[in-house]
Amino acid sequence: MFRKIDVIIIVFFLILSIVLIIKPYGNSAKKIMLVVENESFYIPYKDGYFNLFGKVKDVFGNDHSVYKSMEFEIVEGRIRALHSDCANQICVNTSWIENCGDSIICAPNRVAVIIDCKREDILRK
Ligand SMILES: [Zn+2]
Repeated sequence: MFRKIDVIIIVFFLILSIVLIIKPYGNSAKKIMLVVENESFYIPYKDGYFNLFGKVKDVFGNDHSVYKSMEFEIVEGRIRALHSDCANQICVNTSWIENCGDSIICAPNRVAVIIDCKREDILRK
């Protein structure tokens, strides 16, 4: 017969291991980091369309003055640049990004879109 405490410990470690397995790879852990010039912030990671024509809202609802002629789309968690006014078009020619650490970089516009999977509490320092 198991003692009650044994059962509690086993259940606890089972839940802990499930959380540890799922969390680092779960979609909820992924964030979009937008780097513009010398500032960076997170933008909402949801399917749809967004552009950088004017002010861009971060995940906290704060406005950032970006004013870049770039458009992006997110489909099923994958991101790509739809349009950019840069000469070399490297950003537009970058295929869909979807994994941790993937990025779309537009050097002429000094813009980068990065899929960041680091934990927030580490980033805040
Ligand atoms: Zn570009």
